[in-house]
Amino acid sequence: MKTKNYMKRTIFFVVAMTFGAFSAFAQQQDMRTFVDNLMGRMTLQEKIGQLNLQVAGDITTGQAQDTEVVGLITEGKLGGVFNLKGVDRIRALQDIAVKKSRLGIPLIVGMDVIHGYETIFPIPLAMACSWDLAAIERAARIAAVEASADGIDWFYSPMVDICVDARWGRTAESAGEDPFLGSAVAAAYVRGYQGSLSSNTEVMACVKHFALYGAVEAGRDYNTVDMSHLRMYNQYFPPYRAAAEAGAGSFMSSFNLVDGQHATANRWLLTDVLRKQWQWDGFVVTDYGSIGEMVNHGFGDIAHNSALALHAGTDMDMCTQGFLTTLEQQVKNGTVSEEDVNTACRRVLEAKYKLGLFADPYKYLDPKRRARDIYTDANRQASRQMAAETFVLLKNDNHVLPLKENQKVALIGPLADDRANIAGTWCVAYTPERYATIKETMEKRLHSQLLYAQGSNLTRDEALQRAAEFGKTMPRGDEAQLKAEALDIARQADVIVCAMGECADFSGESSSRAMLELPDVQRELLEELVKLDKPVVLLNFSGRATVLTWEQEHVDAIMNVWFAGSEAGDAICDVLFGDAAPSGKLTVTMPQALGQVPIYYNHLNTGRPVPEGTDHYHKYASNYLDVRNDPLYPFGYGLTYTTFEYGAPVLGGNGSVDLKELETKPVTVSVDVKNSGTRDADEIVQLYIRDVFASVSRPVKELKGFQRIHLKAGESKTVNFNITPEQLSFYDFDGNKVLEPGEFVLMTGPNSRDVQSVTLTVK
Ligand code: BGC
Repeated sequence: MKTKNYMKRTIFFVVAMTFGAFSAFAQQQDMRTFVDNLMGRMTLQEKIGQLNLQVAGDITTGQAQDTEVVGLITEGKLGGVFNLKGVDRIRALQDIAVKKSRLGIPLIVGMDVIHGYETIFPIPLAMACSWDLAAIERAARIAAVEASADGIDWFYSPMVDICVDARWGRTAESAGEDPFLGSAVAAAYVRGYQGSLSSNTEVMACVKHFALYGAVEAGRDYNTVDMSHLRMYNQYFPPYRAAAEAGAGSFMSSFNLVDGQHATANRWLLTDVLRKQWQWDGFVVTDYGSIGEMVNHGFGDIAHNSALALHAGTDMDMCTQGFLTTLEQQVKNGTVSEEDVNTACRRVLEAKYKLGLFADPYKYLDPKRRARDIYTDANRQASRQMAAETFVLLKNDNHVLPLKENQKVALIGPLADDRANIAGTWCVAYTPERYATIKETMEKRLHSQLLYAQGSNLTRDEALQRAAEFGKTMPRGDEAQLKAEALDIARQADVIVCAMGECADFSGESSSRAMLELPDVQRELLEELVKLDKPVVLLNFSGRATVLTWEQEHVDAIMNVWFAGSEAGDAICDVLFGDAAPSGKLTVTMPQALGQVPIYYNHLNTGRPVPEGTDHYHKYASNYLDVRNDPLYPFGYGLTYTTFEYGAPVLGGNGSVDLKELETKPVTVSVDVKNSGTRDADEIVQLYIRDVFASVSRPVKELKGFQRIHLKAGESKTVNFNITPEQLSFYDFDGNKVLEPGEFVLMTGPNSRDVQSVTLTVK
């Protein structure tokens, strides 16, 4: 009976799979036929027009008014627009494309929706610190639902660049330093944005910035990148590849060089790696003005750069108009092949087809959706919950947190009553008047038990102040008076809570910093507050890893709250008062000193590592005279309101496995985790692997598994990780996966530092 059912199910499965594959193939064929027919009717200039992308911005109000954009659309010289929102405005342009251009090809409509739309989610770096893939996917889904209700069908997200240098402001937009976690997060965003691309709430993802942008020298934005292929394949490429494999519809090339070529004109990168090795079939858009910037890089004039970029595999030109103004002539004089234009045009048209824009150019332009879908209570609740999961508790001496009932709290700091910065660096639908500040949310709980003072300006530094005022007002008061007010209320309180750190625009694009400590005036105030000898809690706002060495030594509790989106005020209170327990863990290493940067846990070993257990400078070992190699807080680190005890990892089998066997039957490594404290909480259990001897040097450890589990006070769980050939392999110089038999150290624990290990031999 059982066998019969099994047979039935198998037959059903095979039929379903065959039918699925067949219908996918049939859809593919339909798309090809449709695009062939359309392209058969297009002139060369119209094909080139599809490769042109322009900003439409706020220049159109109600009616399409920007004459240049309107003119381009009418003449069939524009494939898409971006930075335009609102169904009416977009409809005005789509109408022109559909009704007034010769072939009626609809526009694709892009936007930098980076961490939510009107319901803003925490910055991407913070979301990654939740290690909660389902929540990240949900956040992406909500962003897609909201922005598509405003007419947008193409997101310039996810940003999946690996970042190991906290000076780089765009760390805020990334998932951090780890390729394994970064890959999982990248795929979660793509799933959340795109779904099956069938409904009008599903939008196309654009994975950026391909490639290696996170490795800009000295953390300075737009700077040079130069790295080995081995490092590219193993450390930097995995998240891009994961996003490609998750089906992302488009990629954005990066501003930097890759092997001395501009990424936008690098055929090895865009064609050999992305399309041939990874078998990806979407379209590539340049970053803003990249083809023009190639002149500064010293490659030639716009015509030359356009030809290089197109031939390399770039399909759409963002803002330079290099394709539009030079390709036709270049095809005619033979410097560009018409085939390259056809290939790029086909890819752009296929993207529009996949989005369903040929079937219905107004698919994303339903005027009823705005009121129903945007900034809903349910979306805000999801953002609040997500935000609470992103906070990383770095220190909590004497259980200062959560705050206790009936405590008189002095809330102090330039970010305590600020709604302009709380949401984060890249909010395209920013409406600060809607966000609650920490002071406002705390007041609801504490009433007269709350005392508040701003305490200090954000910074004394003029350059930083100008950055802070980018699109926002950051008023400055008299320093001495602000400080006196703060000390006065602090003296009356039982506990001091400081909301300090960076403002939103200290991170993000073009926001690199050469100093990573708390801005001068804020630190001075904190020093005075600490002298009062009362418990001090620091809520550290940051869009990157910052240096908190002094604070670690002197402040009782530190929680990194990043920039947590539109619901940050409520979420911070949820955690401060213990309605939710903190559960975030760092996805970037936090250094002790700026001079350690770039610093990351998955580094290679040196020939002269510092001997284990050494707590001081070691002559002729690889270390600094003035600071230890260890970070202040390691990758994967984060505390909560309870404690967890970890057992040693236990390997299934006898510690040795045949490679062939491993291919069909994974080995299991298990670890017991116990909530040894008095509160229920989530824990993120981590697995790291080290390949001890290999033909190329391998990192001292690499994250290869993690599980977020919930444990009630006193509860224990055994967490199992499967070890598969995938986790033990690495990429060789040519991008092939190899697994070399030998010894592998498997490590489990609560972060990348505090691990226990067991050895697996693969024969
Ligand atoms: C950024 C991209 C962004 C693009 C469009 C560029 O300056 O590097 O991340 O998607 O602008 O706004």
